[in-house]
Amino acid sequence: MGSPVSSTRAVPRRTDAAPGRPLLEVRDLRVEYRTSYGLTNAVNGLSYSVNRGETLAILGESGSGKSVAARAVLGIIESPPGYVTGGEVLFDDVDLLTLSRKELRRIRGERIAIIFQDALTALNPVFTVGFQIAEMFRVHRGLSHADASTRAAELLDRVRIPNARNRIGDYPHQFSGGMRQRVMIAMAIALEPDLLIADEPTTALDVTVQAQIMALLAELRHDLGMGLVLITHDLGVVAEVADHAVVMYAGRGIEYGSIAEVYDGPAHPYTRALMRSIPRADQKGGRLEAIDGSPPNLSAIPAGCEFHPRCPLAEDMCATDRPDAVEVAPGRRAACHFGAEVVRGER
Ligand code: SF4
Repeated sequence: MGSPVSSTRAVPRRTDAAPGRPLLEVRDLRVEYRTSYGLTNAVNGLSYSVNRGETLAILGESGSGKSVAARAVLGIIESPPGYVTGGEVLFDDVDLLTLSRKELRRIRGERIAIIFQDALTALNPVFTVGFQIAEMFRVHRGLSHADASTRAAELLDRVRIPNARNRIGDYPHQFSGGMRQRVMIAMAIALEPDLLIADEPTTALDVTVQAQIMALLAELRHDLGMGLVLITHDLGVVAEVADHAVVMYAGRGIEYGSIAEVYDGPAHPYTRALMRSIPRADQKGGRLEAIDGSPPNLSAIPAGCEFHPRCPLAEDMCATDRPDAVEVAPGRRAACHFGAEVVRGER
């Protein structure tokens, strides 16, 4: 266990002013890209909420819109060509989509942090990791060089970088992939955000290190009382740490539920196919199944249910009628005409 980190909070929290409300509530988010090649509907209706101290997993194959949606929440979509065309992003009941760039920048630094998948490119190669972490404290908290360096060493210790005090003078390339990701996590939690978004935080790491990083994120979420959003295409890494899950397909949230329900009793045929495609320690024997076909091109999403060309349960109506994500069981939502039957195991 690393040493405790002194509190660095300077921006007042509004959460206490809105008891019972989610920390983050995303409603029907829509993002499109307009390029010379045409229109790409990257996010076509994504809704979810996260409370303090909770972890939400956003699951889906590459290209399903997960990362674009996260960037839209943070207001870091490159525009042009990307545009948020609809929805609300309520953070402590304030719609982030209505804020100025300056207001958003302040919230991003202080209250919402993000970890990207590639720590090597996210860190500046020409500055030591200690300098880069200390910079957060100098810029945002006005600490002296010496105090900021002390805080940086505390944070490296907190994320379990061995011999932290002696490593603040090392450069990013002198750390392993797993240790670099720990440095990124240290930077992300430096200002004690209310919400941490981790976008594929373990993609480039081996399985053992993945588990360590996930355990560290879960521990920090608990200790700091943050909300945590974990975005991943790797279903295996989040099962142990997430409370709830959203499954995305073709830019849309197509299933919502607790992580146990989504993993053990999917309500959408796509989720079911995804779950059958991953190895599970609690299931012996049997074959892993591949999902037929490919995810749709987001510039040409099929009419009707976007999954119908690949769906083994598709019926005629699926090719013409797009199902909304509706409640199919208590606390469960799925965008499938037969979701209630699928979740009961009748299809
Ligand atoms: Fe399959 Fe039809 Fe359900 Fe879509 S609506 S997932 S095509 S059964």
